[in-house]
Amino acid sequence: MLIAGNWKMNTDVPAGRALARNVAAGLDRSDADFSEVDVAVCPPFTHLQAVGEALDGSSVALGAQDVHAEEEGAYTSDISASMLTSIGCTYAIVGHSERRQYYDESDAEVNAKVVQARAHGLVPIVCVGETLEHRRSGDAESVVRSQLEGALDGVDVPRADALVVAYEPVWAIGTGESATPTQAQDMHAVVRSDLAGRYGEDLAAEVALLYGGSMKPHNAAELLGQPDVDGGLIGSASLKAESFVAIAEHATEA
Ligand code: PEP
Repeated sequence: MLIAGNWKMNTDVPAGRALARNVAAGLDRSDADFSEVDVAVCPPFTHLQAVGEALDGSSVALGAQDVHAEEEGAYTSDISASMLTSIGCTYAIVGHSERRQYYDESDAEVNAKVVQARAHGLVPIVCVGETLEHRRSGDAESVVRSQLEGALDGVDVPRADALVVAYEPVWAIGTGESATPTQAQDMHAVVRSDLAGRYGEDLAAEVALLYGGSMKPHNAAELLGQPDVDGGLIGSASLKAESFVAIAEHATEA
């Protein structure tokens, strides 16, 4: 299981540092056994140094919310994979629907970012998910399959822990309306079978498939209890240590 928090463009640096400390302390205080649950937070780029320091000595991993596709160069404001590894990042979210929507990020760009993350040993958390229109028109599965094809085309995945896929239906992100456990499971099974076709059944069985989209403490147990749901990518509920830790606790029981 992997529970990853996507803080998006929230908190300033002192508040982010405090949130990270509270997450680490909350996990420490908990009676749950986190030996089978990895926990990560993905703060804004500006916070990585401070949050990394706040998490030092804890088991919480650091992730970024994006990574640039090129090695280095004249890309004002962008952040490279080696910058992220040099500051202690393990993960990088790639292809989040907000990047696809607001920055027109294409599958080809997502693919280039996945390749670049992999080349630097960063674990990409590759986000896929359909819009409400796609779901209503019965195209959800084909959209997700085509996003996977775009993102993973030519990507070598030598070990299952080198890749994470997050299924995030766009209509569930930030809306308070999560997918039902059955909807999540059905699409996760599609993702798993797609990965099996690419990388073989054994490896695909071990790749962590996260569900994202209004996962909260009250619905986490049921979503995380689905056979192909291996964790969660958590947006707004990751901004309060209490709710984020509560979700991680549910993961220990799944
Ligand atoms: C997300 O944007 O990755 C997300 C899952 O957000 P929320 O939990 O707020 O729906």
